[in-house]
This record gives sequence, structure tokens and C-alpha cells, in this order.
Amino acid sequence: MGEMPTGPSGFARILVIEDDPDIRDVIRMHLEKEQFAVATAESGLQGLALAQGQPCTLVILDLGLPGVDGLEICRQLSALTPRPLILILTARSAEIDRVRGLDSGADDYVVKPFSMLELVARVRALLRRPPLAVEQCGDGAARTVAVGSLLIDRWERCAKLGARRIELTTKEFDLLLWFGRHPQRVFSRAELLDAVWGTGYEGYEHTVNSHLNRLRAKIEHDPTHPAMLVTVRGGGYKLVPPALEPMSASLMPPGPPSADGP
Ligand code: CA
Repeated sequence: MGEMPTGPSGFARILVIEDDPDIRDVIRMHLEKEQFAVATAESGLQGLALAQGQPCTLVILDLGLPGVDGLEICRQLSALTPRPLILILTARSAEIDRVRGLDSGADDYVVKPFSMLELVARVRALLRRPPLAVEQCGDGAARTVAVGSLLIDRWERCAKLGARRIELTTKEFDLLLWFGRHPQRVFSRAELLDAVWGTGYEGYEHTVNSHLNRLRAKIEHDPTHPAMLVTVRGGGYKLVPPALEPMSASLMPPGPPSADGP
């Protein structure tokens, strides 16, 4: 166990929690070759302590750990703020375990035995986002999440689009932040309900719709033809990072369109 190394700016920090020293070392080696900053832990509690001490972008978590169950560690990791992405390693290939793994907050899983090529590809897929969207987590840098020209400010719980500041309600903010942490990833209404309102929330998927519409009214140039919070055919929504080029809209005075518009 050591200090979470600080990677060069923009590179993701990855924590590997795996009790098998050979697997741990080979994963670390391959990730470091890919320029990631890697920390390792040999038990769940050790890993949790590391993640709490210094936030990481992604955790590779072995489910078969001594002591505290890997799924319990997964639940606790996914409750952290900022929440790391979690990729589970499991030797248990039974479908029920996969589902339980994802239910417990994991973003993806890889079944052992796996190839390092596959693992690195999955890590890259989870982290895939425009360069500016790589979340700087840790040491005060976690304040903002940038997705293209959209800046989400955790401290002020508002968003900025170019020069325009956008005030958001609590749930609008939580929803936008969720999308901002997973640009381009498609979520169903049920998934959004789980992620933003909590799994125990006895709400309706209509709740998601109404919040999405209000968000669109605030951030979209034309809310009737959303370019950022887009609906995906087959039932889902994703955040498309807005272009970084200054938009003419940002030169316009802030505020909703006037009521006497077309
Ligand atoms: Ca193990």
C-alpha cells in the first residue's frame, strides 16, 4: 500500500484492488505503460481507505477478496464523492453475480481469466470522453467537470456554457452532473432514476422526463431540437459534448427566450 501517485495533469488515477500479487502487478504494469497513475491495494478495506484519502477516477476491483466482500466494497466505493468509475474483476461468471455486481454500483465487469488487452480496452472505454472532460479528481481539482464548452461546477452547483451561467435546481444539477461524468453514454429513464434519485426512490420515470425537459430549456440553444441532451432511438438519453468553439448564442444576453418570440 502506498500513496496514490499523482499523474500528469489530465491522466486518470486508477486504483487496483486485488489480493493476488501476480495479477495486481501485471495490471499495474500494463496501466502504467498506458500512462495512467496507478495505486494498488491488496484488500478491500485498504483500497477503500486509499480511495477515501485521495479520490481516483477509476477503481479496478476484484470481487474475490479476503475479509470484506468485494460487492460490499463496491457499494461503499460508489457512495464516495466524487464517485469513481468501478470496473469489477470476477471469477464468478454466473449471470446472477454479474447483475449483482452492476446493481452494487459497478460500471463494468471483466470475467477472469481475461486478457490484459481486453482489460485495458474496457478501462479506456469507461474513461472515453473528450480530452477536456477527463475529470480532475482530488485536491481541489474536483470542483468542476468540463464537457466540451459545458462546465459543471460542483461547488456552486451551477453550470456554465461558454460565458453563460446557468442556475439549476438540486435535481437538475444532479442529473446534469451524472451525464457530465458519463458523456456519450446512453442511459434509460430507469437507470437515470436509480442513479440520480436513488435505487429506493418510489418515483416514476416521468420524473426523469420532466427534469430533462427543464434542463433542456435551460441549456439547449433550441430545446425543441436538443443538441446536447439528446434522445436516443430505442429509449435512452445521452449527453453530447457541446463544441468548444465560442457559440454565437453565448454572445446573446442570458435568460430564457422571451414570451413574445415566434
Ligand atoms: Ca482474488
